Amino acid sequence: MQRKKFDSVETSKDRFCAPVRIFDFDNACAPVRNAIASYGSRKCLNKKKYDIIWLEITNKCNLNCIHCYSNSSDSAHAPKMTRNDWINLLIECSESGIRHVQFTGGEPILNPDLFDLILTAKKLNIETTEIYTNGTLLNDNILKFLKMHNVSLAFSIYGNNSQTHNAFTRVPGSFEQTIRGIIKAQRYGINIRASIISICESIQNQDEIVRFLKQMNIRSFCIDRVKGVGRGNALFPEKAFVCSKACINLNKKCISCNGDIFSCIFHRERKSGNFLSNN
Ligand code: SF4
Repeated sequence: MQRKKFDSVETSKDRFCAPVRIFDFDNACAPVRNAIASYGSRKCLNKKKYDIIWLEITNKCNLNCIHCYSNSSDSAHAPKMTRNDWINLLIECSESGIRHVQFTGGEPILNPDLFDLILTAKKLNIETTEIYTNGTLLNDNILKFLKMHNVSLAFSIYGNNSQTHNAFTRVPGSFEQTIRGIIKAQRYGINIRASIISICESIQNQDEIVRFLKQMNIRSFCIDRVKGVGRGNALFPEKAFVCSKACINLNKKCISCNGDIFSCIFHRERKSGNFLSNN
């Protein structure tokens, strides 16, 4: 099949501040549909079968966590990957048989193309989509959309109170906003999981955080140690992250907002290519 790159789409006028419309993929995204039909064999992902791919669709974030592995912040530089690039990548993911996609960042909700990317993943029959979010920007419009399209949410928690949590996010009020986001998402019946990020044992009481999450009826959670990556590297150079062989061999990939391809989201030292230069 002759490969035709997807380089021309209409720009969605729907943004997160607008009321949620009932998305009709076939009518609303005809250029995307055509692109899916005409895009040829994959170039960026090799022939290995991948189960999951992390897409870092932005490095902008409204928080400024002390340990952020992706160095995200309000003032981060503009990403090189465009909406069309992400759509092309999703097409390749689908052709590679990838079953699970996680949109992450930065804060993925700050990418105004997120809605269209979710719809594209659905159209491509990717089994599950998850958004890794700080939860502070979730509103009814977004949650209605996510529920409608069966998208799950994952959150990071640093404490069971604002004093502890906000000490890591460095944004006053972020704890309350995240908790409000989780409660709202629960009301919509959205699947939720949480990661307790363990940064400073002397400040964070993990047992209390676990109890807090259970009280909030969050049944799916894990405890994850901060990695010496990104701002985490300056904080904890001794915790520099080295992927185990087993980790590298898992069937997963991460694509950064500049198109860099990694075999693990934390293994930034080992780049295996770039989606933009490969294309
Ligand atoms: S860790 Fe997550 S919430 Fe915190 S600055 Fe980085 S992307 Fe934003």
